[in-house]
Amino acid sequence: MSSIFLCAISNIKSGACEQDCAFCAQSISHGATIDRYSKKPIGTIIYEAKRAKERYATGFCLVSSGKSLTPKTLALVCDAAKAITDLDLGLKLIACNGVVADPEDLYTLKAAGVQAYNHNLETSEAFYPTLCSTHTWQERYRTCKHVGEVGLDLVCGGIFGVGESEEDRVSLLTSIASLNPKNVPLNFFHPNPALPISQPTLSQEEALKIISLARTCIPNAQKIMLAGGRERVFGKGNYTFFSYGANAMVIGDYLTTQGEDAKAELEALKTLGLEIAGACKEI
Ligand code: SF4
Repeated sequence: MSSIFLCAISNIKSGACEQDCAFCAQSISHGATIDRYSKKPIGTIIYEAKRAKERYATGFCLVSSGKSLTPKTLALVCDAAKAITDLDLGLKLIACNGVVADPEDLYTLKAAGVQAYNHNLETSEAFYPTLCSTHTWQERYRTCKHVGEVGLDLVCGGIFGVGESEEDRVSLLTSIASLNPKNVPLNFFHPNPALPISQPTLSQEEALKIISLARTCIPNAQKIMLAGGRERVFGKGNYTFFSYGANAMVIGDYLTTQGEDAKAELEALKTLGLEIAGACKEI
């Protein structure tokens, strides 16, 4: 197997989102118990970037809640990106800040040192209105198109186990493939009593089928990355998904849920003889 890639995320603006995405604990519609803050201090973001580097992450993603990239969030992401770029840690910087209406904002991110933009289509075009009534799948698709047009790498994936059919999964992955993303994050729904979705956690067998399907539908993706819900589905120390087409995963905590201890995961990966990539450009 070729090297595997690790990516860490920083939730730089958490909760209080006015959108009603049924799978998301950050929506005010659901009243979930989560941390809420409007701006993580730059010093904390830098600390997290350094810690990500120490833990062999090659990518570091600055994520904010909310439908779209607002001027305030743009300023925060740019400040953080410039500060991290100055440290020359060798991390690939990714921004994930929602719908981008004006492509100029993506150029601004790029100038600040951001190299990739993450925007997930989440599910199929047909099923999306079942999950969200406050914005459209088409807006999401347009944002992904803009990302490629301004020369940023696109990171685009979705969430599974939210009640979608197999047909929806194929449709989503086909739509993602049409955008030619470099990295495809696969999230698995993490049940939460506050959320309106009452789907059980996906079985490992079903999740592995999804990973294989993603690899088949999007053969040109440099990375198929396991993201939120990985530990929920696969449990501790289980990395079988690397034999089914995945070659990347998120380490550390997620946006509103805790991940496994990153150091323990590194030890487990090394014990299994899995080689960890030192930089994103190694493919
Ligand atoms: S997925 Fe994004 S837009 Fe939807 S509720 Fe969560 S933070 Fe808001």
